[in-house]
Amino acid sequence: MTEIFIIDDEEQIAEMLGEVVSLSGFNANIYTDATVFFEEGKFNDNATIILDLNMPNMDGVEVIRELSSKSSKASLILMSGYDMSVLRSAEKLAQAHGLEIVTSLMKPIQLDSLMEVLDTHRKSLNDYQPLSTNSHFVPNTTDLAQALNQDELIIFLQPQIDIQTGALVGSEVLVRWEHPQHGMIFPDNFIGLAEQSGLIGQLTSKVLDMAIEQIAAHQARGYKIPLSVNVSANNISSLELPEELADKITHSHLDPSLLTIEVTESALMGKLVTSLDILTRIRMKGFALSIDDFGTGFSSLSQLHRVPFNELKVDKSFIMEMDTDSEAKAIVKTCIVLGHELNMTVVAEGVETEATLTMLKELGCDIAQGYFLSRPLSENDYQDWLDLNSHRICMINNSDKSSETV
Ligand code: C2E
Ligand code: CA
Ligand code: CA
Repeated sequence: MTEIFIIDDEEQIAEMLGEVVSLSGFNANIYTDATVFFEEGKFNDNATIILDLNMPNMDGVEVIRELSSKSSKASLILMSGYDMSVLRSAEKLAQAHGLEIVTSLMKPIQLDSLMEVLDTHRKSLNDYQPLSTNSHFVPNTTDLAQALNQDELIIFLQPQIDIQTGALVGSEVLVRWEHPQHGMIFPDNFIGLAEQSGLIGQLTSKVLDMAIEQIAAHQARGYKIPLSVNVSANNISSLELPEELADKITHSHLDPSLLTIEVTESALMGKLVTSLDILTRIRMKGFALSIDDFGTGFSSLSQLHRVPFNELKVDKSFIMEMDTDSEAKAIVKTCIVLGHELNMTVVAEGVETEATLTMLKELGCDIAQGYFLSRPLSENDYQDWLDLNSHRICMINNSDKSSETV
């Protein structure tokens, strides 16, 4: 049976949580003092821990720090009697240390919500599918170089929808590695490697070629669909990027405004002067620029103003929580106002529910992207989506029918 560790200084509460944990089919281990939890050391790297933040000896934040110093990958269910903002900061801290947050609960704990959380957690532990058929496959530089040479990298496209009119206004290009033995590998498993090994320039170049090929193919069918491509921090320190982009687009006789370059907010934090130079030249050559994962980095307003971005993408972590978390909603609202003040189009990514889409519409957000509208699609599925779903998408226009049609 899977173990769950409960750390809460209030004995009665800890006991009660222990009962819920056992009822949910886990083995409960109760600690009223975190120092004992570490002294006993019964937990493994992937332990699930229900953790109270407010404890007299060693508090929850110290526990997070100690777990991280042990390179733990524990999953945490955080609890606190303070307000939600304290829980949110603790979540951010834990995630920054590589720990996983299952959820955060305000005290007094609603036992039925805890049971629901545990139920979902048990399913996710059971359903856990390694990203590749061989869970031990950790690609190295040689594997990735070979993948690039043998054209194993492919692109998926995720539609972006105008929230007010329902029109398809573009799509984001997301790279995948179709490994002949290990199956589909997602970018989070190899972009870091590409950056460290110096292969990122070659990778970005391939993705750009595939994106441009798609734009041209759509155009040949009479569709004008702008595509967005992600570039990494390393790319925007390469002074040749604007010329490389311009050469590719000239060669294909396409309008550069059909290609948007997405740069994450955190990528801008690096060599700012060099990136400003490169980004400005990309804009001057007619490409569109988008600031991605907005809200997770620490760009200052003056920096934002200095880089000529056309588009601001609010990070999905805020969008995914905005219908249940009023602070996330406040952040989204502020990002929309800020983007509009700076003449940028605002995109919400990670739109997973109709409630979120409705809320974004009320807040005046421009574009939505997310599983509720469509998952990222292979090139073939995307063609089918264009053919079959265009009718459904147009129906978003008709606000009173949107629930049945999106
Ligand atoms: P990103 O740029 O923030 O891309 C959005 C990610 O969110 C994608 O994950 C997408 O599949 C996922 N997503 C879309 N809608 C939803 C939703 O409703 N809910 C949730 N939970 N997730 C959603 P993906 O494809 O695994 O890509 C992960 C990251 O890898 C991307 O994050 C991007 O930073 C990076 N990446 C992807 N393609 C490239 C590329 O060609 N070059 C570079 N440098 N990075 C790339
Ligand atoms: Ca992106
Ligand atoms: Ca993003």
